Amino acid sequence: MNIHEYQAKAVLREFGVPTSRGIAAFSVEEAVKAAQQLEGPVYVVKAQIHAGGRGKAGGVKVVRTIEDVQKEAQRLLGSVLVTHQTGPRGKQVHRLYIEEGSAIDREFYLSALVDRGSSRIAFVVSTEGGMDIEKVAKDTPEKIHTVTVDPATGIMPHHGRRVASALKLTGDLAKQAESLVAKLYTAFIAKDMSLLEINPLVVTKGGQLICLDAKIGFEGNALYRHPDIVALRDLTEEDEKEIEASKHDLNYIALDGTIGCMVNGAGLAMATMDIIKLYGESPANFLDVGGGASKDRVTEAFKIITSDPNVKGILINIFGGIMRCDVIAGGVVEAVKEVGLKVPLVIRLEGTNVDLGKKIIAESGLNVVSADDLDDAAQKIVKAVRGN
Ligand code: GDP
Ligand code: MN
Repeated sequence: MNIHEYQAKAVLREFGVPTSRGIAAFSVEEAVKAAQQLEGPVYVVKAQIHAGGRGKAGGVKVVRTIEDVQKEAQRLLGSVLVTHQTGPRGKQVHRLYIEEGSAIDREFYLSALVDRGSSRIAFVVSTEGGMDIEKVAKDTPEKIHTVTVDPATGIMPHHGRRVASALKLTGDLAKQAESLVAKLYTAFIAKDMSLLEINPLVVTKGGQLICLDAKIGFEGNALYRHPDIVALRDLTEEDEKEIEASKHDLNYIALDGTIGCMVNGAGLAMATMDIIKLYGESPANFLDVGGGASKDRVTEAFKIITSDPNVKGILINIFGGIMRCDVIAGGVVEAVKEVGLKVPLVIRLEGTNVDLGKKIIAESGLNVVSADDLDDAAQKIVKAVRGN
């Protein structure tokens, strides 16, 4: 789960992490009021969307008067920002963050993440901050430094010293970096984060190290122990189909292909997406209906898939183990009766009660193509969406 920059900074402040003073605003009036409460004379008006690259897209403006805060707030609220992370459709701005401006001397990159390779939390830092870190990684990988933390010891002063040295910080600034790294690590563990990205981390002309931007992703499986974080969820930032799916306990992720997939088991769902790719098309979603799905859940899943306008065909791939083929077949028939079927549907059933499942489909009178195995199913659905 992701949260907004202003929320991320509030979480980090609880751990003593230095940020600028700022106030969130949901309207132009609130933006003006926020600026009046801040020190000035420089303000930063920042669009709050769950995507980076706002600066280049005009979503971050440094201004010098309250009138300009008003002007920028008027311009940004309700507008659609298209950044390199939003996709071409962009994201509409509903919230702003008004911050006290900082005089920047240097900009760095710092992130912490769960590094599967080392099975540790890793800090990734670079002196090349404020810009596209993927580009730095590609063009000048030697400018990116990684420091991993052994969970047995936890964060130690030497981790902070290594981060400070990678950022070429000395004296008091090195001390600030060491303290910052310890606080970020503590926050990361305490809140079960999966990603924490500060880009840029800046040194101000006054010699202070401050987090000027903050992005946090939280581990979904640990959210049950963080009701304070769950309360920060902004549903307007999430895919409607994914929200609907989560209400029915369906593991659904929206993707941008044309073939809707309904599969039982995450591994089989991944294999199904791979084989669709192999035959030249792309999946419109990942969906694992789970082992013990009821007829109702299958019906809901089918409705979610068909509500996606990009879906040009549907592939149902079920290996009945705990999940019985007749339950899936019944759910599909029910769903089609309810929502109709405007695109080709290929079904591959195998396993428990397969004959009963096939019988239900056959007797339903639905226009369904059945397939013998995964390979056959993938070829048939690709052929069908291509209209030949
Ligand atoms: P992003 O583009 O979505 O990553 O948004 P950021 O929060 O990183 O802001 C983009 C850029 O705006 C930063 O890299 C800074 O160069 C600039 N910026 C943000 N806040 C301030 C500020 O207080 N003072 C100055 N001078 N520049 C700022
Ligand atoms: Mn940034």
